[in-house]
This record gives sequence, C-alpha cells and structure tokens, in this order.
Amino acid sequence: MTKSLYIKTYGCQMNVYDSARMADVLAPLGFVPVEVPDEADMVILNTCHIREKAAEKVYSELGRLRRLKQARSHGGADMILAVAGCVAQAEGAEIARRAPYVDMVFGPQAYHRLPEMVARAGRAGGAVLDTDFPPEAKFDHLPAGSGQGVNAFLTVQEGCDKFCTFCVVPYTRGAEFSRPVADVLAEARHLADAGAREVMLLGQNVNAYHGLVEGKEDWGLGDLIRGVAAVDGIERVRYTTSYPAEVDAALIAAHREVPELMPFLHLPVQSGSDRVLAAMNRRHTADQYRRLADRLRQARPDLALASDFIVGFPGESDTDFQATLDLVTDVGFAQAYSFKYSPRPGTPAPMMDAQVPEPVKSQRLATLQDLLAEQQRHFNDTCVGLTLTVLLDRPGRHPGQLVGRSPYMQAVHVDAAAAEVGAIVEVRIDAALANSLGGTVVGSPDGGRAAPGDGTRQVA
Ligand code: SF4
Repeated sequence: MTKSLYIKTYGCQMNVYDSARMADVLAPLGFVPVEVPDEADMVILNTCHIREKAAEKVYSELGRLRRLKQARSHGGADMILAVAGCVAQAEGAEIARRAPYVDMVFGPQAYHRLPEMVARAGRAGGAVLDTDFPPEAKFDHLPAGSGQGVNAFLTVQEGCDKFCTFCVVPYTRGAEFSRPVADVLAEARHLADAGAREVMLLGQNVNAYHGLVEGKEDWGLGDLIRGVAAVDGIERVRYTTSYPAEVDAALIAAHREVPELMPFLHLPVQSGSDRVLAAMNRRHTADQYRRLADRLRQARPDLALASDFIVGFPGESDTDFQATLDLVTDVGFAQAYSFKYSPRPGTPAPMMDAQVPEPVKSQRLATLQDLLAEQQRHFNDTCVGLTLTVLLDRPGRHPGQLVGRSPYMQAVHVDAAAAEVGAIVEVRIDAALANSLGGTVVGSPDGGRAAPGDGTRQVA
C-alpha cells in the first residue's frame, strides 16, 4: 500500500543529501514523497543546529504539526511524526519530553535504521529514540539511491575533529569518517546512470577525506576527485565544505589538472585576524590563507573563491575587524556568507570573555557585507561579454526560460526549450545582476567544458 512521506529539510547540502537517502530507505515500505505535510502518513523534520535558536524553531514547527496530527483520524495515530538531524542528535530525549506527541527522534548516523524505527513506532508507548553513533557504517546499510537529477550530492565524508570553538558539528555529527573509495565510485556511477552530470562531493570537513582502496591505498580528496571525474557521464565535479588547513598539494594539483573540477571553491576563512582565528581554534593564520588562495589561483588562474565570515566573535576588537576587511580586499571573493557571531549551546565560545555588544556586531556586519556585495557585483560584471559553459538544470520563472549554473556557481538565465534541461551549453553573458547572470545560448548543447587555466577570469 502506498503511503505519503513529507520531509522538511533545514540547513546544509548534507542535510539535503540525507533527506534524499531517508526517502530511499523508506521507499521499500511504500512511502512516496509529497510536497505538503497536510495529508502525509509520515512527516520528518530533518533539522540543522548551525543557526541561532535552532531548537526553539523546531519546537515551534512541532507545535504546528501537532495540530495537524490531532486533526487526523484516530487521534493522529495514523501519522508518524519524526525529528531527525543535528537538533535531534543534540536534544535527544528532551524532544520526547517537551513534545510527547513526537513518534521518533533520531540522529544523522541512524537513519539507515528507519524501517526498524517505523515498526517500533507502531508498537511503542512513547517516542522511539535513536541518537547513538553506531559501530556499523550507516552507508553500508543504505539502498542505492533513486537519483537526484542533473545536479547530485554525494556524501563522501562525515563528522569533524577540528572543534572550532563556535561550532556544534563535532558534537552532533561525531568524529571524522570517510567512505571507502569503491563505495563512492559506485554511487557516482549510479548517479550518472540516473542522469547526474554534475556531482557535489560533500563532507563536513571534506578535505579530511581519506578513503581506502581494497583495504590499503589511502586516497585523499584530490585522488577521489580524479576518480569521480573519470566516471562516464559525470562532466562536472565540485566539493564542499573545505577546511583551509587541510588543503594539500594533491588537491591543488587536481585544480590544475582535472578539467571536470569546476573553478569555484568555497573556502571558509571566518576572520582575517590571527588573534581571533586562534580563539576560534581555526589552525591557520590570515597569511596562510592568503598564500593558499595564491597557490590555488596559480594552479587554476580563473578560480573564483567564496568564503564564510563570522563578525563579532568574543574578543574581536576594531583592529581585528579591520584585519578581516583587509583580508577580503587582498583575496577578493566572488561570493560569501557572513553572519554575526551567536552562541551555540555546548560550545566553548559563549563562555569566553569580552562578548561583543549586538550594535557593534550589526555595524561590522553591515560594513563587511557592503564590501563583499561590491566584490560579488564586480565579479559578475567582469563576466559580461564572456562565453561560459552552463549546465541547464531547471525551468526559469518565465515560460521559455531555463536556469543553469556557470562554472563559477552563478545562476545563469537563458531562453531555451524545456527539453534542454540537462544540457551543457555555451552561453554568451549579456547582463550581470547582483546574484545572477543573463545570457544567450551560442553553442549547441554539450558544446564543451571549462578548460583548466584558460585565464579569462580574475576577481577584484
Ligand atoms: S572545521 Fe567546520 S565543521 Fe569542523 S568544527 Fe570547524 S567550523 Fe565546525
């Protein structure tokens, strides 16, 4: 019998991947994904603990779902309500206590056991709780995925051992773990067979990837990128999230030598002040980051960099903040995410002295975002007149329009037939907006790939 499954996904691409795999695990039980929760037989909130007040937001969403559940027949017994992901991992039994109508609470390392949990939820008097970091590898127990379309995510690494003082990931996702090379390549082949042309390799700290080949040879991320790029049908490879202190020579060489590796890298720096970086436990200095950016651009001259910034970290002075602005000016970014520091329960930074007042954080954030927006705008402007390869991946807002991605991760709008979704086309860029580009298709579908080191792109 067919049952409907609604998954609400919060947070990062790894959660998007996990949600797709949860749907794969539940498919043999007859669960079919739906777009709205109203009539769903099972609702999963796949949560993220990165943002401020994440747990409170989950509880307020649960309040809404409780009303939905109560309105259903049999007092809601026909609807399974589950909380998954990092908030589930961090809060555990507290969710069952505060929201006793929740049927299942499970962490990111447990969702391969969903069929067993569903069976237990039918029998249990209270919530089924599974927030262990189990000894068996989750990935060994997942079925082959159903495919994700033209752009696919592929988790290759999980967890983090770096313990940045502001971050909850080491506590919610556990220690660093890499999937074996053979498993990653098999999944890449499966995704390609299902229509993927671009694959994003995912890891909380993807640079920590070390996968075994036949139990011995240890492949780093650079080797893995070469392996995935060699899979038939995969035309583009990207990876995220990077930890600067673990970018090695083999990875830089991959940027130089692998044409399928796109010339766009999200490389979070967080601050330009060595004092703040040390307090964050980041294990790199501002100048080491500058030199790394130089080495990457020597390997791939058109490389566009993106980054993450936290302003107002405890102890950040005006001088420290100026050092961040200096780093941004020196390096030049095509895109960036920037946030005011906000405390995460269970991490060391909230206990630090000299918490920065909110008005100061707001002022600094506005200043930084002005600079970053100017750099992004400049980067987009310098694309006008260039011909870029674009992977068309979805319909646009207007009839007859498609949207795709440039090698540099920009959204590109073109006039093209719906049948062209999935094609890689040559697009002459005619216009630049703050967050996207517009252009004209000038090359036949699959007209080519970005060439390494073609040198047409420079940032600020
Ligand atoms: S490296 Fe990234 S995931 Fe790991 S603790 Fe630092 S910010 Fe969190």
